[in-house]
Amino acid sequence: MTADDPLVEPAVPDDFTEHLVERYGSPLYVYDLDRVRRAHQDLSSALPESSRIYYSLKANPHPALVAELRTLGARAEVTSRGELASALRAGCPAGELLYSGPGKTPGELVEAVHHGIRHFSAESFGDLARIGAAADEQGARAECVLRINAAGAPGGAGLRMTGSASQFGFDLDGLFAEPERLDVPGTRVVGLHFFPLTNARDEEGLRAEIVQSIRTAAELRDKLGIPLQLVDLGGGFAAPYAVPGERPTYPGLRAAVTDALDESLPDWRDGAPVIAFESGRYLVGDSGRLMCTVTDVKDSRGTRYAVLDSGINHLGGLSGLGRLLPMSARPLRTTPGEEPRRTTLAGPLCTPADLLGRNVDLAGVRPGAVLEFPNVGAYGLSASLLGFLGHPAPAEVVVRGERVLSASRLSLHRQEIDEVPGARNAKDTDQAKELT
Ligand SMILES: *Cc1c(COP(=O)(O)O)cnc(C)c1O
Repeated sequence: MTADDPLVEPAVPDDFTEHLVERYGSPLYVYDLDRVRRAHQDLSSALPESSRIYYSLKANPHPALVAELRTLGARAEVTSRGELASALRAGCPAGELLYSGPGKTPGELVEAVHHGIRHFSAESFGDLARIGAAADEQGARAECVLRINAAGAPGGAGLRMTGSASQFGFDLDGLFAEPERLDVPGTRVVGLHFFPLTNARDEEGLRAEIVQSIRTAAELRDKLGIPLQLVDLGGGFAAPYAVPGERPTYPGLRAAVTDALDESLPDWRDGAPVIAFESGRYLVGDSGRLMCTVTDVKDSRGTRYAVLDSGINHLGGLSGLGRLLPMSARPLRTTPGEEPRRTTLAGPLCTPADLLGRNVDLAGVRPGAVLEFPNVGAYGLSASLLGFLGHPAPAEVVVRGERVLSASRLSLHRQEIDEVPGARNAKDTDQAKELT
Protein backbone atom coordinates (compact mmCIF):
# COMPACT_ATOMS: atom_id res chain seq x y z
CA MET A 1 0.00 0.00 0.00
CA THR A 2 1.27 3.42 -0.82
CA ALA A 3 -0.34 6.69 0.10
CA ASP A 4 -0.62 7.89 -3.48
CA ASP A 5 -2.44 4.79 -4.75
CA PRO A 6 -6.03 5.97 -5.09
CA LEU A 7 -7.36 2.46 -4.43
CA VAL A 8 -6.00 2.34 -0.90
CA GLU A 9 -6.31 5.97 0.06
CA PRO A 10 -8.29 5.97 3.31
CA ALA A 11 -11.48 7.98 3.45
CA VAL A 12 -10.96 11.23 5.25
CA PRO A 13 -13.41 11.53 8.13
CA ASP A 14 -15.22 14.75 7.49
CA ASP A 15 -17.94 14.84 10.07
CA PHE A 16 -19.03 13.62 13.46
CA THR A 17 -20.02 10.08 12.55
CA GLU A 18 -16.83 9.46 10.61
CA HIS A 19 -14.97 10.81 13.60
CA LEU A 20 -16.73 8.14 15.67
CA VAL A 21 -15.42 5.48 13.29
CA GLU A 22 -11.92 6.80 13.98
CA ARG A 23 -12.53 6.46 17.70
CA TYR A 24 -14.47 3.21 17.92
CA GLY A 25 -13.66 1.37 14.72
CA SER A 26 -15.72 0.09 11.81
CA PRO A 27 -18.44 -1.11 11.48
CA LEU A 28 -20.32 0.98 13.97
CA TYR A 29 -23.92 1.70 14.89
CA VAL A 30 -24.70 5.20 16.14
CA TYR A 31 -28.01 5.96 17.90
CA ASP A 32 -29.00 9.57 18.52
CA LEU A 33 -31.34 10.06 21.48
CA ASP A 34 -32.35 13.51 20.22
CA ARG A 35 -33.95 11.80 17.26
CA VAL A 36 -35.76 9.32 19.50
CA ARG A 37 -37.15 12.31 21.36
CA ARG A 38 -38.38 13.96 18.15
CA ALA A 39 -39.99 10.74 16.94
CA HIS A 40 -41.81 10.27 20.24
CA GLN A 41 -43.03 13.85 20.07
CA ASP A 42 -44.25 13.39 16.48
CA LEU A 43 -46.06 10.16 17.32
CA SER A 44 -47.69 11.60 20.45
CA SER A 45 -49.04 14.52 18.51
CA ALA A 46 -50.45 12.22 15.79
CA LEU A 47 -52.46 10.22 18.38
CA PRO A 48 -55.50 11.12 20.47
CA GLU A 49 -54.57 13.19 23.48
CA SER A 50 -53.28 11.26 26.50
CA SER A 51 -52.88 8.03 24.52
CA ARG A 52 -50.50 5.58 26.11
CA ILE A 53 -47.56 4.58 23.90
CA TYR A 54 -45.90 1.21 24.25
CA TYR A 55 -42.42 0.87 22.82
CA SER A 56 -41.97 -2.58 21.22
CA LEU A 57 -38.49 -3.67 22.21
CA LYS A 58 -38.50 -6.02 19.22
CA ALA A 59 -37.39 -3.06 17.10
CA ASN A 60 -34.29 -2.40 19.21
CA PRO A 61 -33.76 -3.59 22.77
CA HIS A 62 -30.75 -1.32 23.47
CA PRO A 63 -31.31 -0.19 27.08
CA ALA A 64 -30.29 3.41 26.33
CA LEU A 65 -33.11 3.76 23.79
CA VAL A 66 -35.56 2.04 26.11
CA ALA A 67 -34.51 4.33 28.98
CA GLU A 68 -34.91 7.43 26.83
CA LEU A 69 -38.41 6.40 25.80
CA ARG A 70 -39.31 5.61 29.40
CA THR A 71 -38.22 9.12 30.39
CA LEU A 72 -40.51 10.46 27.69
CA GLY A 73 -43.44 8.55 29.16
CA ALA A 74 -43.55 5.47 26.95
CA ARG A 75 -44.01 2.02 28.46
CA ALA A 76 -42.28 -1.14 27.31
CA GLU A 77 -43.84 -4.00 25.38
CA VAL A 78 -41.71 -7.13 25.71
CA THR A 79 -42.00 -10.63 24.30
CA SER A 80 -39.08 -12.62 25.71
CA ARG A 81 -36.77 -13.08 28.68
CA GLY A 82 -34.12 -10.98 26.93
CA GLU A 83 -36.44 -8.07 26.20
CA LEU A 84 -37.78 -8.27 29.74
CA ALA A 85 -34.23 -8.06 31.10
CA SER A 86 -33.47 -5.04 28.84
CA ALA A 87 -36.61 -3.23 29.94
CA LEU A 88 -35.90 -3.81 33.62
CA ARG A 89 -32.27 -2.77 33.16
CA ALA A 90 -33.50 0.42 31.50
CA GLY A 91 -35.49 1.20 34.64
CA CYS A 92 -38.98 0.41 33.37
CA PRO A 93 -41.21 -0.46 36.34
CA ALA A 94 -42.27 -4.12 36.05
CA GLY A 95 -45.85 -3.22 36.89
CA GLU A 96 -46.10 -1.07 33.77
CA LEU A 97 -44.74 -3.54 31.23
CA LEU A 98 -46.90 -5.37 28.73
CA TYR A 99 -45.76 -8.93 28.06
CA SER A 100 -47.00 -10.21 24.71
CA GLY A 101 -46.15 -12.63 21.94
CA PRO A 102 -47.28 -16.09 20.89
CA GLY A 103 -45.73 -19.15 22.51
CA LYS A 104 -44.95 -17.77 25.94
CA THR A 105 -43.65 -20.85 27.77
CA PRO A 106 -44.76 -21.84 31.27
CA GLY A 107 -41.22 -21.24 32.58
CA GLU A 108 -40.92 -17.82 31.02
CA LEU A 109 -44.34 -16.82 32.36
CA VAL A 110 -43.41 -17.91 35.89
CA GLU A 111 -40.29 -15.76 35.64
CA ALA A 112 -42.22 -12.79 34.31
CA VAL A 113 -44.76 -12.97 37.14
CA HIS A 114 -41.93 -13.40 39.60
CA HIS A 115 -40.35 -10.18 38.29
CA GLY A 116 -43.61 -8.37 38.96
CA ILE A 117 -45.14 -8.34 35.47
CA ARG A 118 -48.93 -8.17 35.79
CA HIS A 119 -50.04 -7.15 32.31
CA PHE A 120 -50.10 -9.71 29.55
CA SER A 121 -51.48 -9.93 26.06
CA ALA A 122 -53.10 -13.35 25.67
CA GLU A 123 -52.88 -14.85 22.20
CA SER A 124 -55.16 -17.88 22.63
CA PHE A 125 -57.19 -19.80 25.22
CA GLY A 126 -54.13 -21.97 25.89
CA ASP A 127 -51.90 -18.93 26.35
CA LEU A 128 -54.44 -17.42 28.75
CA ALA A 129 -54.54 -20.66 30.76
CA ARG A 130 -50.73 -20.74 31.02
CA ILE A 131 -50.59 -17.08 32.08
CA GLY A 132 -53.21 -17.88 34.72
CA ALA A 133 -51.34 -20.93 35.99
CA ALA A 134 -48.10 -18.94 36.36
CA ALA A 135 -49.84 -16.13 38.23
CA ASP A 136 -52.02 -18.37 40.37
CA GLU A 137 -49.16 -20.47 41.70
CA GLN A 138 -47.50 -17.27 42.93
CA GLY A 139 -50.69 -15.91 44.45
CA ALA A 140 -50.87 -13.17 41.84
CA ARG A 141 -53.47 -12.10 39.35
CA ALA A 142 -52.54 -11.31 35.77
CA GLU A 143 -54.49 -8.60 33.99
CA CYS A 144 -54.85 -9.68 30.40
CA VAL A 145 -55.77 -8.01 27.16
CA LEU A 146 -56.97 -10.44 24.51
CA ARG A 147 -55.21 -10.10 21.20
CA ILE A 148 -57.83 -10.12 18.48
CA ASN A 149 -57.40 -11.52 14.99
CA ALA A 150 -60.27 -9.72 13.28
CA ALA A 151 -60.96 -9.25 9.63
CA GLY A 152 -59.82 -5.67 9.30
CA ALA A 153 -60.75 -2.80 7.09
CA PRO A 154 -60.74 -3.54 3.40
CA GLY A 155 -57.76 -2.33 1.37
CA GLY A 156 -55.00 -0.71 3.38
CA ALA A 157 -51.25 -0.94 3.10
CA GLY A 158 -48.43 -2.51 5.01
CA LEU A 159 -47.68 -6.03 6.07
CA ARG A 160 -50.95 -7.49 7.40
CA MET A 161 -50.54 -9.28 10.69
CA THR A 162 -54.10 -10.55 11.16
CA GLY A 163 -57.45 -11.05 9.46
CA SER A 164 -56.75 -14.51 8.08
CA ALA A 165 -55.35 -17.71 9.56
CA SER A 166 -52.67 -16.65 12.01
CA GLN A 167 -50.67 -17.80 15.01
CA PHE A 168 -51.49 -14.40 16.50
CA GLY A 169 -54.56 -13.64 18.53
CA PHE A 170 -58.07 -14.99 19.03
CA ASP A 171 -60.30 -15.47 16.03
CA LEU A 172 -63.62 -13.74 16.71
CA ASP A 173 -65.51 -16.96 15.89
CA GLY A 174 -63.57 -18.81 18.55
CA LEU A 175 -64.29 -16.16 21.16
CA PHE A 176 -68.00 -16.15 20.40
CA ALA A 177 -68.13 -19.97 20.46
CA GLU A 178 -66.52 -20.46 23.88
CA PRO A 179 -66.55 -17.23 25.91
CA GLU A 180 -66.64 -19.26 29.14
CA ARG A 181 -63.03 -20.26 28.49
CA LEU A 182 -62.04 -16.68 29.32
CA ASP A 183 -62.79 -17.37 32.94
CA VAL A 184 -59.37 -18.52 34.11
CA PRO A 185 -58.14 -18.53 37.73
CA GLY A 186 -55.16 -16.21 38.17
CA THR A 187 -56.29 -13.90 35.38
CA ARG A 188 -58.69 -11.08 34.78
CA VAL A 189 -59.54 -9.99 31.26
CA VAL A 190 -59.21 -6.19 31.23
CA GLY A 191 -59.34 -5.31 27.57
CA LEU A 192 -58.34 -5.96 24.01
CA HIS A 193 -55.23 -5.78 21.87
CA PHE A 194 -55.18 -5.22 18.13
CA PHE A 195 -52.21 -5.23 15.82
CA PRO A 196 -53.60 -5.59 12.34
CA LEU A 197 -50.73 -4.27 10.27
CA THR A 198 -47.27 -2.80 10.33
CA ASN A 199 -45.32 -0.18 8.40
CA ALA A 200 -48.34 1.62 6.90
CA ARG A 201 -47.18 4.63 4.97
CA ASP A 202 -50.68 5.44 3.83
CA GLU A 203 -52.62 7.37 6.43
CA GLU A 204 -56.01 6.46 5.04
CA GLY A 205 -55.40 2.72 5.33
CA LEU A 206 -54.02 3.08 8.82
CA ARG A 207 -56.95 5.22 9.91
CA ALA A 208 -59.45 2.70 8.54
CA GLU A 209 -57.78 -0.16 10.43
CA ILE A 210 -57.72 1.72 13.72
CA VAL A 211 -61.33 2.86 13.38
CA GLN A 212 -62.34 -0.73 12.59
CA SER A 213 -60.50 -1.98 15.68
CA ILE A 214 -62.34 0.56 17.84
CA ARG A 215 -65.68 -0.67 16.51
CA THR A 216 -64.70 -4.29 17.06
CA ALA A 217 -63.73 -3.45 20.66
CA ALA A 218 -67.13 -1.88 21.32
CA GLU A 219 -68.87 -4.86 19.75
CA LEU A 220 -66.97 -7.36 21.88
CA ARG A 221 -67.78 -5.36 25.00
CA ASP A 222 -71.49 -5.26 24.10
CA LYS A 223 -71.92 -8.85 22.93
CA LEU A 224 -69.52 -10.76 25.17
CA GLY A 225 -69.36 -8.42 28.15
CA ILE A 226 -65.59 -8.08 27.86
CA PRO A 227 -64.62 -5.30 30.26
CA LEU A 228 -62.62 -2.53 28.65
CA GLN A 229 -60.06 -0.91 30.93
CA LEU A 230 -57.36 -0.96 28.28
CA VAL A 231 -57.72 -1.00 24.51
CA ASP A 232 -54.41 -1.36 22.75
CA LEU A 233 -54.98 -0.35 19.14
CA GLY A 234 -51.57 -1.49 17.96
CA GLY A 235 -49.88 0.72 15.44
CA GLY A 236 -48.35 0.22 12.08
CA PHE A 237 -46.58 3.59 11.99
CA ALA A 238 -44.04 3.50 9.21
CA ALA A 239 -40.40 4.49 8.92
CA PRO A 240 -37.84 4.29 6.13
CA TYR A 241 -35.37 1.44 6.44
CA ALA A 242 -31.70 1.66 5.47
CA VAL A 243 -32.33 4.27 2.79
CA PRO A 244 -32.36 8.05 3.04
CA GLY A 245 -35.77 9.53 3.78
CA GLU A 246 -38.09 10.87 6.44
CA ARG A 247 -40.68 9.28 8.68
CA PRO A 248 -44.20 9.85 7.30
CA THR A 249 -46.52 12.19 9.15
CA TYR A 250 -50.16 11.38 9.86
CA PRO A 251 -51.78 14.80 9.96
CA GLY A 252 -55.39 13.61 9.94
CA LEU A 253 -55.04 10.64 12.26
CA ARG A 254 -55.61 12.29 15.62
CA ALA A 255 -58.93 13.86 14.64
CA ALA A 256 -60.27 10.75 12.91
CA VAL A 257 -59.38 8.38 15.74
CA THR A 258 -60.67 10.82 18.35
CA ASP A 259 -64.01 10.98 16.54
CA ALA A 260 -64.23 7.19 16.35
CA LEU A 261 -63.46 6.90 20.07
CA ASP A 262 -66.06 9.51 20.98
CA GLU A 263 -68.60 7.57 18.99
CA SER A 264 -67.87 3.98 20.08
CA LEU A 265 -66.12 4.27 23.47
CA PRO A 266 -67.35 7.64 24.76
CA ASP A 267 -65.86 7.30 28.26
CA TRP A 268 -62.34 7.00 26.91
CA ARG A 269 -61.55 10.58 27.91
CA ASP A 270 -62.00 9.50 31.53
CA GLY A 271 -59.68 6.56 31.01
CA ALA A 272 -62.46 4.03 30.55
CA PRO A 273 -60.83 2.52 28.63
CA VAL A 274 -57.25 3.77 28.52
CA ILE A 275 -56.28 3.95 24.84
CA ALA A 276 -52.87 2.62 23.91
CA PHE A 277 -50.78 2.30 20.76
CA GLU A 278 -47.58 0.41 20.04
CA SER A 279 -44.61 1.33 17.97
CA GLY A 280 -41.13 0.12 17.30
CA ARG A 281 -39.81 1.41 14.01
CA TYR A 282 -41.42 4.86 14.11
CA LEU A 283 -39.90 5.62 17.51
CA VAL A 284 -36.34 4.48 16.91
CA GLY A 285 -35.88 3.87 13.19
CA ASP A 286 -34.39 7.20 12.25
CA SER A 287 -32.25 7.42 15.38
CA GLY A 288 -29.80 4.83 14.08
CA ARG A 289 -27.06 4.87 11.48
CA LEU A 290 -24.66 2.11 10.46
CA MET A 291 -21.18 3.22 9.48
CA CYS A 292 -19.10 0.69 7.61
CA THR A 293 -16.03 0.56 5.44
CA VAL A 294 -15.36 -0.68 1.93
CA THR A 295 -12.87 -3.55 2.05
CA ASP A 296 -12.63 -4.51 -1.62
CA VAL A 297 -13.85 -3.25 -4.96
CA LYS A 298 -14.03 -5.61 -7.92
CA ASP A 299 -15.68 -5.92 -11.29
CA SER A 300 -17.24 -9.21 -12.26
CA ARG A 301 -18.84 -9.74 -15.66
CA GLY A 302 -19.99 -6.19 -15.96
CA THR A 303 -21.08 -5.68 -12.36
CA ARG A 304 -19.11 -3.57 -9.94
CA TYR A 305 -19.02 -4.97 -6.39
CA ALA A 306 -18.04 -3.13 -3.26
CA VAL A 307 -17.38 -5.63 -0.48
CA LEU A 308 -18.05 -4.06 2.91
CA ASP A 309 -17.00 -4.98 6.45
CA SER A 310 -20.70 -5.29 7.37
CA GLY A 311 -23.43 -7.40 5.81
CA ILE A 312 -26.63 -9.21 6.71
CA ASN A 313 -24.87 -10.32 9.90
CA HIS A 314 -25.26 -6.71 11.07
CA LEU A 315 -28.17 -5.35 9.07
CA GLY A 316 -31.24 -6.71 7.41
CA GLY A 317 -31.02 -10.31 8.55
CA LEU A 318 -34.81 -10.31 8.83
CA SER A 319 -35.10 -10.08 5.07
CA GLY A 320 -33.86 -13.64 5.05
CA LEU A 321 -37.18 -14.66 6.55
CA GLY A 322 -38.78 -14.22 3.15
CA ARG A 323 -41.78 -12.17 4.25
CA LEU A 324 -39.92 -8.94 3.78
CA LEU A 325 -38.42 -7.45 0.66
CA PRO A 326 -34.83 -8.33 -0.10
CA MET A 327 -32.39 -5.85 1.35
CA SER A 328 -32.06 -2.70 -0.68
CA ALA A 329 -29.98 -0.39 1.43
CA ARG A 330 -28.66 2.86 0.09
CA PRO A 331 -25.92 4.77 1.89
CA LEU A 332 -26.41 8.41 2.67
CA ARG A 333 -23.43 10.12 1.27
CA THR A 334 -21.20 9.69 -1.67
CA THR A 335 -18.10 11.67 -2.45
CA PRO A 336 -19.04 14.98 -4.04
CA GLY A 337 -17.42 15.85 -7.35
CA GLU A 338 -16.94 12.26 -8.47
CA GLU A 339 -19.01 10.51 -11.10
CA PRO A 340 -21.32 7.95 -9.44
CA ARG A 341 -20.98 4.37 -10.60
CA ARG A 342 -23.53 1.63 -10.37
CA THR A 343 -22.34 -0.61 -7.56
CA THR A 344 -23.63 -3.71 -5.79
CA LEU A 345 -22.96 -3.65 -2.07
CA ALA A 346 -21.91 -7.03 -0.69
CA GLY A 347 -21.11 -8.00 2.88
CA PRO A 348 -18.20 -10.16 4.03
CA LEU A 349 -20.14 -13.41 4.53
CA CYS A 350 -19.45 -16.47 2.43
CA THR A 351 -22.93 -16.65 0.95
CA PRO A 352 -24.29 -15.01 -2.19
CA ALA A 353 -27.27 -13.90 -0.07
CA ASP A 354 -25.07 -11.37 1.69
CA LEU A 355 -26.05 -8.33 -0.35
CA LEU A 356 -27.07 -5.04 1.23
CA GLY A 357 -28.03 -3.33 -2.02
CA ARG A 358 -27.96 -3.98 -5.76
CA ASN A 359 -27.06 -1.44 -8.43
CA VAL A 360 -26.72 1.56 -6.16
CA ASP A 361 -25.28 4.71 -7.74
CA LEU A 362 -22.28 5.57 -5.63
CA ALA A 363 -19.27 7.78 -6.11
CA GLY A 364 -15.94 7.48 -4.37
CA VAL A 365 -16.20 3.80 -3.60
CA ARG A 366 -12.71 2.57 -2.89
CA PRO A 367 -11.11 0.42 -0.21
CA GLY A 368 -11.08 2.41 3.00
CA ALA A 369 -14.08 4.57 2.06
CA VAL A 370 -16.60 4.92 4.88
CA LEU A 371 -20.28 4.49 4.04
CA GLU A 372 -23.19 5.59 6.17
CA PHE A 373 -26.54 3.77 6.07
CA PRO A 374 -29.27 5.94 7.57
CA ASN A 375 -32.54 4.90 9.26
CA VAL A 376 -31.38 1.62 10.78
CA GLY A 377 -32.26 2.25 14.44
CA ALA A 378 -35.08 -0.32 14.19
CA TYR A 379 -34.63 -3.92 13.01
CA GLY A 380 -30.90 -3.35 12.67
CA LEU A 381 -28.40 -5.27 14.73
CA SER A 382 -30.71 -7.36 16.91
CA ALA A 383 -32.72 -8.42 13.85
CA SER A 384 -29.62 -9.66 12.05
CA LEU A 385 -27.66 -12.88 11.71
CA LEU A 386 -25.16 -11.95 14.37
CA GLY A 387 -23.91 -15.47 14.96
CA PHE A 388 -23.50 -16.39 11.31
CA LEU A 389 -19.86 -16.68 10.24
CA GLY A 390 -18.51 -15.33 13.50
CA HIS A 391 -17.57 -11.76 12.71
CA PRO A 392 -17.59 -9.57 15.84
CA ALA A 393 -20.63 -7.38 16.37
CA PRO A 394 -20.25 -3.73 15.46
CA ALA A 395 -19.79 -1.29 18.31
CA GLU A 396 -22.95 0.58 19.32
CA VAL A 397 -22.44 4.21 20.28
CA VAL A 398 -25.23 6.21 21.86
CA VAL A 399 -25.10 9.95 21.35
CA ARG A 400 -27.23 12.95 22.08
CA GLY A 401 -26.56 15.33 19.21
CA GLU A 402 -22.77 15.32 19.10
CA ARG A 403 -22.18 14.18 22.67
CA VAL A 404 -21.18 10.53 23.17
CA LEU A 405 -23.07 8.93 26.06
CA SER A 406 -21.98 5.32 25.82
CA ALA A 407 -20.20 2.81 23.64
CA SER A 408 -20.57 -0.94 23.88
CA ARG A 409 -20.39 -4.14 21.89
CA LEU A 410 -22.65 -7.16 22.05
CA SER A 411 -20.91 -10.49 22.19
CA LEU A 412 -22.03 -14.04 21.76
CA HIS A 413 -20.05 -16.40 23.90
CA ARG A 414 -20.39 -20.03 24.86
CA GLN A 415 -21.08 -20.69 28.48
CA GLU A 416 -20.74 -24.02 30.25
CA ILE A 417 -23.97 -25.10 31.89
CA ASP A 418 -24.76 -27.69 34.51
CA GLU A 419 -27.11 -30.57 33.98
CA VAL A 420 -30.54 -29.89 35.50
CA PRO A 421 -32.19 -33.21 36.46
CA GLY A 422 -35.82 -33.16 35.38
CA ALA A 423 -35.24 -29.89 33.50
CA ARG A 424 -37.93 -30.63 30.99
CA ASN A 425 -40.72 -30.71 33.54
CA ALA A 426 -39.28 -28.41 36.17
CA LYS A 427 -41.04 -25.21 36.88
CA ASP A 428 -38.41 -22.53 36.52
CA THR A 429 -39.23 -20.82 39.80
CA ASP A 430 -35.85 -21.45 41.38
CA GLN A 431 -34.07 -20.31 38.27
CA ALA A 432 -36.25 -17.20 38.27
CA LYS A 433 -35.25 -16.42 41.82
CA GLU A 434 -31.60 -16.61 40.87
CA LEU A 435 -32.13 -14.00 38.20
CA THR A 436 -33.21 -11.33 40.63
C1 LIG B 1 -43.70 -5.99 15.73
C2 LIG B 1 -44.77 -5.53 16.62
C3 LIG B 1 -44.84 -4.18 17.00
C4 LIG B 1 -43.90 -3.14 16.48
O1 LIG B 1 -44.04 -2.96 15.11
P1 LIG B 1 -43.40 -1.70 14.36
O2 LIG B 1 -43.77 -1.92 12.96
O3 LIG B 1 -41.93 -1.76 14.61
O4 LIG B 1 -43.99 -0.48 14.98
C5 LIG B 1 -45.84 -3.80 17.86
N1 LIG B 1 -46.73 -4.70 18.35
C6 LIG B 1 -46.68 -6.01 18.02
C7 LIG B 1 -47.68 -6.93 18.60
C8 LIG B 1 -45.71 -6.46 17.14
O5 LIG B 1 -45.67 -7.75 16.80
